Amino acid sequence: MIQLPKNLKERFGSRCTDSRFECSFYGRDVAYIPPFLVRLLTRPVPDMVFRPLCAEEVSEIIAFAGRRRLAVTPRAGGSTALGSCVPVKAGIVIDLNGLKGVLGFEAGKEKVKVLPGTTWAELDGYLRRRGYCVRSYPSSFHVATIGGWLSGGGCGVGSLRYGPLVNQVSSLEVVLPSGEIRRVTRHSQPCVSWFAAAEGTLGVITGVELKVRTLPEATRHFLLASKEPGGLFEAARDCARGLAHPVYNLHYNSRSLNWALQTGGLAPEPLGRYHTLAVSLEGTPTDLDRAGESIWSMVKGYGLTMLDDSLALEEWENRFRLLRIRRLYPSLLACELLVPTASCQQYLEEVENLGRQAGVRMLTYAHIISRDQALVMTLYYSDEGNPFRYLCDASLTARIYRTGCRLGGGPYTIGFWNTPYLHLQKIHHPDRLQELRQRKLLLDPQGILNPGKVYGPTPLLSPVLFGIGLKAAGFLRVFLHERVRCDGWE
Ligand SMILES: Cc1cc2nc3c(=O)[nH]c(=O)nc-3n(C[C@H](O)[C@H](O)[C@H](O)COP(=O)(O)OP(=O)(O)OC[C@H]3O[C@@H](n4cnc5c(N)ncnc54)[C@H](O)[C@@H]3O)c2cc1C
Repeated sequence: MIQLPKNLKERFGSRCTDSRFECSFYGRDVAYIPPFLVRLLTRPVPDMVFRPLCAEEVSEIIAFAGRRRLAVTPRAGGSTALGSCVPVKAGIVIDLNGLKGVLGFEAGKEKVKVLPGTTWAELDGYLRRRGYCVRSYPSSFHVATIGGWLSGGGCGVGSLRYGPLVNQVSSLEVVLPSGEIRRVTRHSQPCVSWFAAAEGTLGVITGVELKVRTLPEATRHFLLASKEPGGLFEAARDCARGLAHPVYNLHYNSRSLNWALQTGGLAPEPLGRYHTLAVSLEGTPTDLDRAGESIWSMVKGYGLTMLDDSLALEEWENRFRLLRIRRLYPSLLACELLVPTASCQQYLEEVENLGRQAGVRMLTYAHIISRDQALVMTLYYSDEGNPFRYLCDASLTARIYRTGCRLGGGPYTIGFWNTPYLHLQKIHHPDRLQELRQRKLLLDPQGILNPGKVYGPTPLLSPVLFGIGLKAAGFLRVFLHERVRCDGWE
């Protein structure tokens, strides 16, 4: 057990701790993983936690970690589900929630300089008071931070119009694993894109300069529905191609998800009977009228149903409550993938078939994030009170990923728990993986920043062992089949 050095204790005071009790709160994120498995594969509870207030303090902590060869895990909102912000090898957690606030706002250039621990809700609130707003944000808007979302995938609400977050960032201040504080731009070496989606493995982001926008003049929401998903995906692709400009956001819910929400009292009639596509428009009133006409012709052309405006508005307001289904089924397991929009219907059919064979209902929703891609979340019910079943069910996750990968997609973020899929599903082209590893070697030759994530699995999660484990889980799951079917769906 490593103890806090006296000089750092004096310097940081109550902003650092090596109390086992206090550190234990940093040993998990929002996902439940059976504790015996976590303990078998990782050392998730850090030896010490620091809450710095500026880049210089982050640099001091990292320099100390480098001297002692301690792992450093950056953490902000802690809202990931793949262990991205949870230590694999104990060491130090840097809690970045103290680096909060707006440093500068240039209204004319629609640009803001912000500290990374600011949440999306806080930044958006600051901007709205001045007639501006953020361009895009995650559904975890109220807890997710600017630095956390940039270090993850950066796709969510509004990405359809503005692209992933990295496209909106002009420069960053980063503390490198050497302890050096560096300003990086889109064209420097290393550049902004190295740190986007790096999941805190290349540097700690301590400042972000990003583009914002003026508040839209008008907004309007439509909720398209259909008993079959095909026409909805066609409409979604038309909208993403710009046929109903100015679309800001497109969100799809499968019929099984709507049904589960409705039967649990979390969605009104008649949602449970339909697959739905929520179309949100933002622009001038004239543009919205024109786009509204295009949407009505899609409804007629694809034989869809247009639901009531009040339901459309409710669906939009629920964008921050996408996981409310967990109130009914707290043990949901989840897979998040990028899937080509052209393959979404096939993905849905195959995954629902898989669910039927396995005796579980697959609940799917998706953000359409570009002309070609959707960020798809499939959830299914398990039982975390029964670790044996929970582990056997995890074999379904692998099969869902396999389906998505075969259709040209793949897992969205990697964190710790998706590292085995780097090889099993070949998430990256080998050249891309090699390039990522070279960046890591260049910036972090000692491998202190967030080890065990992004570049390759730890030995116990090696593709061979993991593959055997999955096969065994899949085999044993057959014996659970009858029990699972009796779990009260329909
Ligand atoms: C209900 C719900 C909805 C969600 N919706 C979305 C969504 O729409 N889109 C999406 O992409 N994700 C989504 N997520 C996942 C998650 O909330 C996001 O990835 C979020 O942006 C993470 O931000 P955070 O502040 O919680 O970061 P954390 O979870 O604390 O950290 C995330 C990663 O970033 C690293 N990190 C954090 N801060 C820094 C920093 N300053 N410098 C370097 N590395 C850093 C951490 O080490 C970790 O690897 C959702 C999660 C939930 C629970």
